[in-house]
Amino acid sequence: MKQETVHTAEGAGRVCARYGFDAAARRHRLELLELGDADQHWAQRLQQEVIAPQVDALVERFYDFQQRFPEIMRAIGNRDNLAHLKNTQRRYLLSLGHDFSGEDYFGERLRIGEIHAQRNIPLSLYQASYRHLQQLLVEAIPAAIPPGSAEHLALCGFISKITALDMTLAIETYHSVRMADLRETVDNLQSEHWRLHEKVGRDTLTGLANRESALNELEAALATVGKRNTQLCLIMSDVDHFKQINDTYGHLTGDKVLQCVAAKLQQLLREFDIVGRFGGEEFIIVLDDTPLEVARKVAERLRRGVEQELVQCDEQNIRLTISLGLTRATARDDVRGLIRRADDALYQAKEEGRNRVVVI
Ligand code: GH3
Ligand code: MG
Ligand code: MG
Repeated sequence: MKQETVHTAEGAGRVCARYGFDAAARRHRLELLELGDADQHWAQRLQQEVIAPQVDALVERFYDFQQRFPEIMRAIGNRDNLAHLKNTQRRYLLSLGHDFSGEDYFGERLRIGEIHAQRNIPLSLYQASYRHLQQLLVEAIPAAIPPGSAEHLALCGFISKITALDMTLAIETYHSVRMADLRETVDNLQSEHWRLHEKVGRDTLTGLANRESALNELEAALATVGKRNTQLCLIMSDVDHFKQINDTYGHLTGDKVLQCVAAKLQQLLREFDIVGRFGGEEFIIVLDDTPLEVARKVAERLRRGVEQELVQCDEQNIRLTISLGLTRATARDDVRGLIRRADDALYQAKEEGRNRVVVI
C-alpha cells in the first residue's frame, strides 16, 4: 500500500539529529515502549484493515469532537484551516505506524510536534486530542476484526504503543521549542540588564553621572592622588534662587532649566572631567590632575557660561546664575572631608551674594 508522508522543508535526518535521535536513541525509545519487530506486522494490519477503509470517517469523527471545544476552535481558526487540517490529519492517519523504527518516521513526528508547539497549541490540548484519536482508532477495530479475538487485543496493544511513541516525540519538541523561547527571553533580559546597567550610573533627568557614580569616581581618583603626586580639585555648584524659577515658571520648566545647566557644564568641561548631579539643583565636578589655579579658571568659566546662557523655555527667556565652592584635595583627604570643604566654600559664595566662586 502506498504510504503518504508529511513533507517538510527540512529532511527527517536533520530533524532527528537536532533532537539527538540517532539509530541508538531511536532503538532505545522503541524498547522503552516495547515496540519490537513483531509490531511491524500489526502496523500493516492496522493500516490495511482498520485505517484505510475508514480513514474519512475517522477524520470526520475526530473533528466533530474537536469542534465542541471553543479553545480548539480558536486554535483551528477559519474553515479553510479546518479543511487543510482534515487533509493533514488524513495523511497522518495513513502513515501511522508505517516503518515506525525509521528515521523518516521519527523525523516527521518530531516535525508535527514542532508545528503544534510553534503555533502555541497548549500541550494539554494536544494530548487531549491525541487521546481522543487513540479512542477512535480502538473503536474502529471491530468493523474489521472480531472484538475479543486475540488479534483484536494485539491491535489494541499496538495502537496504545504507537500513539504513545508519537506523543512522546511531540512532547520532546514542546520542551525544545519552549527552551528556545526561554533562551530568547533570557537573551533579551540579558541585553536589557546591560542597558539598565549602563543607565544605572546616570541621572535620569540630566543624563549626567548620578550622585553615587560621581562619588565612586571621586573616591577612585582621590585614592591615587598621593601616589601620582598630582593635584585634584573639587567643585560643588548650586543654582542660585532656583526655587524662584520653579515658583515662577513651574516645576516642568524648572526641570528643563536643570537640563540646560547640566548640558552647559558638560560643554564647558573637558571630556575626562567628572561631572555629576549631586542632588536637586546641585552639581559636583571633579577636576583630576588639575592645579588649583587652573581649577579656579575652570570654575570661573562655568559661572560665566551659565550666567551668559539664556535658557529658552516655552517662549520664555530665563536668566540664571550659579554659585561655586572650590577646594583642592590633599593626600590626607577622604571623600567626606573634601566634600564638606567644597560645601563650606559654596555656602560662603551664597553668603557673599551668589553668582561667584569661592576657594577654600
Ligand atoms: P539658593 O540660591 O540659596 O541655592 O536658593 P535656591 O532656591 O536655589 O535653594 P533651595 O534649596 O531653597 O531650593 C532648591 C529648589 O530646587 C527646591 C526644590 O524644589 C528644587 N528642586 C530640586 N530638585 C529639583 C528637580 O529635579 N526639578 C525641579 N524642577 N526642581 C528641583
Ligand atoms: Mg540653589
Ligand atoms: Mg541647593
